[in-house]
Amino acid sequence: MRNTVAIFCLALIGSGQAQPFQLPTANHALFEKGGEEKFFVGTTGKPWTTGTFGCVRSDGHQLHEGLDIRCLQRDKHGEPTDPVMATADGAIAYINRKPSLSNYGNYVVVRHKINGLEIYSLYAHLSEIRADLKTGQDVKAGEKLAVMGRTANTREGISKERAHVHFELNLLLNDHYASWHKSALPGQRNDHGDWNGRNLLGLDPRLILLQQHEQGAKFNLLTFIQHHNELCRVIVRKTSFPWLKRYAALIRSNPRAEKEGIAGYELALNFIGIPFEVIPRAASEMKGKNKFQLLNVNQAEHDRNPCCHLVARRGSGWELTNHGTELLELVTW
Ligand SMILES: [Zn+2]
Repeated sequence: MRNTVAIFCLALIGSGQAQPFQLPTANHALFEKGGEEKFFVGTTGKPWTTGTFGCVRSDGHQLHEGLDIRCLQRDKHGEPTDPVMATADGAIAYINRKPSLSNYGNYVVVRHKINGLEIYSLYAHLSEIRADLKTGQDVKAGEKLAVMGRTANTREGISKERAHVHFELNLLLNDHYASWHKSALPGQRNDHGDWNGRNLLGLDPRLILLQQHEQGAKFNLLTFIQHHNELCRVIVRKTSFPWLKRYAALIRSNPRAEKEGIAGYELALNFIGIPFEVIPRAASEMKGKNKFQLLNVNQAEHDRNPCCHLVARRGSGWELTNHGTELLELVTW
C-alpha cells in the first residue's frame, strides 16, 4: 500500500500537478534559458522587461501589475487564437464581458485557495470568454477559460503585433471594497464592485512561477509572501478589519498585546502596499495618537521600486503620502 502511494506521488510530481500554478497559455518560454523575448511582450519600442511585473513602465515610474505573455498562434487575419487556461484549480470570481468598461477589456478573475491563502488570478484583453462560464463555477487547473485577444478601452488599443494575455496573481485587500469606494470616492464610477483594480494587489507571477519551477512541491505561497522586501512599517489604530481574517496566516504572535489587550496593528508593507506581516500591538507599545503612524522606511527598497508612492521624503524624515493614507484607509475599512 505504501509503495502504491509513493508511486502515485511521484507520478503527480512528474506531471507537474503537484505544483499549484501553471502557465495560463501554451507559451512556456519563461522556463527556457534566454527565453524572455519569446515569453514577454514589451510596450511599443521598449524591451521585453516592460512586459514583466513591477515598476517597469514609463522609465520605471509606472507600475505594471502582471505579466504580458506573448501569443503563439494566429488566425489568417493575424489575430491571436491561443487558448487561455486557469492557472490552478479554483472558482470563477468575476467576469467582465463589456470591454468598454475596462482598460483590461474582457477579463476573468478566478479565486484559488493555495497553502491556505485566497489568491485571485486575472486574465485580461481576452477576445472570447467561454459562453458557459458563470460566477461561482468551479474550474480545474489548465481548463480553457477564453481565447487570447486584444480588447481594452484605451485610446491607443493593443496592436496585433503586441497581442498578449495580461496575467495577474492578486491578493484582495478588502471584502467591503464597494462600500469604501462609495464613501471615499463619491462620484467616481465603480463598474466592477469588489473587483476594482484598487482592491487587488499583485504578487509577481514571474517570481512565483520560477521559484515553483525550481522548488517543485516544496514551494509554499505563504512563505513566498512572507519574504517580500519591506518598504515601510506602519501602526494602524484599528483592531478589526477584513485583512486580519482573510490573511490570518500573516499575523505574528505578540504575547504582550495578547496579555494587555490589542489596541492596534503594526503592518509591514511591500512597495505596492501588501501588508505581508501583521503584528498585534498593545496600547503601551504604541506612540502617538494618529490613526496611521509611519514607523520606518527602507530607503533601499524605496529607491529600487519607486513607482507606487506610498511614502515620500519630508525634510530629513519620511511621511505617508495621500496615496499611502488612502491605501491604509482601504485596508482598515
Ligand atoms: Zn499588461
